[in-house]
Amino acid sequence: MSDDLYLDANATEPLRPEARAAVLVALDLRGNPSSVHADGRAARRVLETARSQIANAFGARAQDVVLTAGGTEANAAAIHALAPGRAVLVGATEHPAVLAATPGATPIPVLADGRLDLAALDTLLTCSDLALVCVMAANNETGVLHPLSEIAALCRRHGALLHIDAVQAAGRMALDFAGLGADTMALSGHKLGGPKGAGALLLRPGLTLAPLLAGGGQERGRRGGTEALPAIAGMGAAAAAARPQDAARLGRLRDAIEAGAGLSVAGQGAPRLPNTTSLIFPRMPAETLVIALDLEGVRVSAGSACSSGKVTRSHVLTAMGLGEAAGHAIRVSLPWDAPEDVAPRFLAALARVGARLAPVAGPSTGG
Ligand code: PLP
Repeated sequence: MSDDLYLDANATEPLRPEARAAVLVALDLRGNPSSVHADGRAARRVLETARSQIANAFGARAQDVVLTAGGTEANAAAIHALAPGRAVLVGATEHPAVLAATPGATPIPVLADGRLDLAALDTLLTCSDLALVCVMAANNETGVLHPLSEIAALCRRHGALLHIDAVQAAGRMALDFAGLGADTMALSGHKLGGPKGAGALLLRPGLTLAPLLAGGGQERGRRGGTEALPAIAGMGAAAAAARPQDAARLGRLRDAIEAGAGLSVAGQGAPRLPNTTSLIFPRMPAETLVIALDLEGVRVSAGSACSSGKVTRSHVLTAMGLGEAAGHAIRVSLPWDAPEDVAPRFLAALARVGARLAPVAGPSTGG
C-alpha cells in the first residue's frame, strides 16, 4: 500500500491529520447540537468552531455558512433557492451535481482552453431579463480556472445572481467569497482533506435561503436535519489546515509530470489548479490506461470519477472541442501530501504501461 501512488485527489483528498483528530473528538460527543442541555451545548460548540473555520478560510461570515452533507447538496440548495423565476445559465463544463440540478438551463460555452466564454455570457445576459449564472471556480477534470472576477462583474452589470461551485478550488487556491461578490458558493469537505459527507453553502450577507430540505429548523431554518457533527468538525479542521500557499510545491510536481510525459494537456494554456493535469494519449482509450496504471499501483481517473465507476466520454473535453481525444484523457490530480518523487515514479509506471500496451494500440501510442 505504501508504494502505491494516489493521484486522484480531485475525486477525494486523503484525510488530513488535523481533520482526523477533530473527527475523533466529535465522535465521542453524545449531544445533539440543537439540544439546550450541557451535552447539546458541547456539540454546538464543536459545530460553531467548524462553521467559523470554514467562514474564515473562505471569506464569509460565520452566520452566512449553511452546513450540508456535501458539495452536491450545497449546489442543489443554492439552485433550488435562487433559480425560481429566473433564466438559468450554466457553464458547459460544470460538474454533474450542477447540471442535474438545472434541467432546461442554457449552457454557457467555453473557449478551446476551457475557460468560460465571457463574450457569450455577456450576450446571454443581455438576452435574459432575470438570470441566475452557475459556474465553477475550477474544473474537476482539467483544473481550468474560470475568470471569476470578470464573471461576477458581468453578473453585477446585468443584475444577475451568481452561484459559484468552488468544490475543487477550495483549499487549492486563495478564495475570497466576500471579495468576489457572488451570491452563493458551494464547498465540499472531502475535497479539502476532511471526511466525506460534509459540505457548506456560503451566502451573501442578507440573502435568505428557502431550504431544499425542510425539517427541524436547524441551520437557522435554512437546512433541516441534524448536522453530521464528526464530518463537519473534520471539514472545519481541514479548511483551517489547507494551505493554498502549498500550490507552488504541487504546481512544480505537476509541471514535472507534464514535461516528462510529453503529451498534450487539456487546457494547458489556461490558468489551472496547480495539482491537476489532464493528459491526452493518442489512440489509447482512457479506461484501458486507468486500469493498467492501477495494476502498477498508480491511482488516476478517466475524466470525472464522481460517476460511480462508469466511464463515459468527457462532456468537459467535448465542450472544449477536443472531439475524439475526449475519450483518451486521464486525469492526474496530486493530493496535498503528494511525495516529492511523484513525477519520476509516475513517469516510470507510465513508461512500463506504454511498453506493455504499445503492441495493442499501435506504434504512436503514448507519444
Ligand atoms: N462540484 C464539483 C466541481 C466536484 O468536483 C464535485 C465532486 O467531485 C462536486 C461538486 C460534488 O461534491 P460532493 O462529492 O461533496 O457531493
